[in-house]
Amino acid sequence: RAKAKGKACHEIFAPTMHLSALKELHLESDLRQAIQRKELVVYYQPIFRLDTQQIIGAEALVRWHPPGKSLIPPNDFIPIAEETGLIIDIDRWVLQCACQQLHQWQKEFKDLAPHFISVNLSPKQFSDPYLTNTITEIISATELPKEYLKLEITETVFLKNSNTVLEILSQLQQLNIQICLDDFGTGYSSLSYLHRFPLNSLKIDRSFVSHLGQTTKNDAIVRIVGSLANELELELIAEGIEESYQIEALNHLGYQWGQGYYFSPPIDDQAFSLLLKKNRIYTPNK
Ligand code: C2E
Ligand code: MG
Ligand code: MG
Ligand code: MG
Repeated sequence: RAKAKGKACHEIFAPTMHLSALKELHLESDLRQAIQRKELVVYYQPIFRLDTQQIIGAEALVRWHPPGKSLIPPNDFIPIAEETGLIIDIDRWVLQCACQQLHQWQKEFKDLAPHFISVNLSPKQFSDPYLTNTITEIISATELPKEYLKLEITETVFLKNSNTVLEILSQLQQLNIQICLDDFGTGYSSLSYLHRFPLNSLKIDRSFVSHLGQTTKNDAIVRIVGSLANELELELIAEGIEESYQIEALNHLGYQWGQGYYFSPPIDDQAFSLLLKKNRIYTPNK
């Protein structure tokens, strides 16, 4: 009886399981090839000073562009890249492109170039005890001064091997590399890591920005994160700014910097160069 039941289950579930496993297998081998065939591209989203609305920095965001097809967003392939370990190479490649690019913009545009570049780092990177060396080698090869690099990490890195993470982050900070806590307020928020781990900036999550002015509770959280960052002398970045009233509100609450579709979506390196050329002071066309 149990056997029959087991068989029935097998028959019912096997086809779908088979399909998704197959799909994943394809995605994995496609992604492997994509890396070799250089189908990945780095887009850059400008980060603005909220008071003067001038470009202050940029965040590097990876995309996958299979020939003849449209861009695949990172959320569609980063999870599988993390599962398979491919993320290690992807992140390193993005880091190299981003450092090279900023160095080039600074040579070309001097003071008008972004002052820093932010690169996202998967939590998986922290299983590599030599991470600091790898990062140092990549930056040195691009000749970018180390203080212009911000590495964005999320709260999940603090959950595992926190001693190793602490050591790596301390090494990075001794090298003058900046650490930014991304998506702040949505992860496994515990305030204790704000003093336990060396951090330079907080990036408050888009969800808080998009709800600005909608509930007093949300606005209180945004305000308190603002004072927390100011008291702890952390730089503060707001992500997901889509409306001008959000800039005013954030400015008022002591937020220095922000990024979002209101200013610009992530764009490729050429479009970004054009933006720098065009704009001594950037005025969004809205
Ligand atoms: P993230 O680091 O939090 O990046 C911000 C995401 O918000 C980006 O999505 C960006 O395009 C989007 N965004 C920016 N402004 C707005 C806005 O005004 N409204 C809305 N709705 N969205 C906005 P994207 O580029 O699709 O990246 C998604 C996530 O993928 C990133 O979130 C990051 O966690 C991950 N990711 C991207 N590139 C890399 C990479 O090179 N390495 C790693 N490990 N992760 C990456
Ligand atoms: Mg980020
Ligand atoms: Mg973010
Ligand atoms: Mg986010």
